[in-house]
Amino acid sequence: MTHSLSYAATPVIELNHEGVNGVRLLVKREDLNHPFVSGNKWWKLKYNLEEAKRAGHDTLLTFGGAYSNHLYATAAAAHELGMKSIGIVRGERTEPLNHTLSFAESRGMKLHFISREAYRKKNEHEFLQSIRNQFGDAYIIPEGGTNEFAVRGCAEFAKTLEEEIDFDYLCLPIGTGGTMAGMIEGLSSNKKVIGFSSLKGGDFLKDEIQLLVSNTQLDWQVNTGYHFGGYGKSTPDLISFIEDMKMNYQLPLDQVYTAKMMMGVFDLIGQNYFEHGSTILILHTGGLQGNHSIK
Ligand SMILES: *Cc1c(COP(=O)(O)O)cnc(C)c1O
Repeated sequence: MTHSLSYAATPVIELNHEGVNGVRLLVKREDLNHPFVSGNKWWKLKYNLEEAKRAGHDTLLTFGGAYSNHLYATAAAAHELGMKSIGIVRGERTEPLNHTLSFAESRGMKLHFISREAYRKKNEHEFLQSIRNQFGDAYIIPEGGTNEFAVRGCAEFAKTLEEEIDFDYLCLPIGTGGTMAGMIEGLSSNKKVIGFSSLKGGDFLKDEIQLLVSNTQLDWQVNTGYHFGGYGKSTPDLISFIEDMKMNYQLPLDQVYTAKMMMGVFDLIGQNYFEHGSTILILHTGGLQGNHSIK
């Protein structure tokens, strides 16, 4: 039995974008770090897996929607480490299962579907107690994987980024904000971090992230202008942008997170938002598995 997840070193590529207004654009292809536990999910799970083992759990239990990258990654991680996994899924089971859920099942995850109303209580104490009664003493990871262990893993990743690459701005997509919190914690204060919200009405994210960080030196902000209709929603523009990026740069992007962020970055470059001569590091957080299910 292995004790930690496999990890592949990932490349940094430069985008020679025609519209680059005197800035350097780098992409860290962290989506390539693991075939199934990809991108930020690898780092968010790292210390959760250690903690689960330390506390003697043999089962991981977590939550997600039917397209959740986190459910997918958790199922794969549990499988690789010889652990069991349970996924509490929002909504009804519909056959055939989509790519995300059928993959999770293929990795041994037991899927348990609950109504949207019940799912809303997922963080409440009573609900979690009933889950424990029903499924036994599993190690519970919140939806999206965000908790203090996730932030610690992402902060560690941020430090490796800074050692490897010279950059001024770090751009990344945001779901719950856990990854961004890790970046803020791990980077030194001369960096600027810009997170792009993948959901509509993401103004609350600033407060959520604030709760997860103690580093007050670094300049960071949440950009809420590029959600393209909201979480999981897309537009024809976004779809054709994804095709363009694939054709022009051989860069695959996902619809839910990375494409929205990338369009945001290009748009801001067009507005001369970034300081002339600066280097922008774009974090490819993975999520490509989702492209099999959506459309
Ligand atoms: C989960 C995910 C995110 C969001 O990460 P948070 O830590 O929840 O903000 C961003 N990008 C991809 C590809 C993801 O799978």
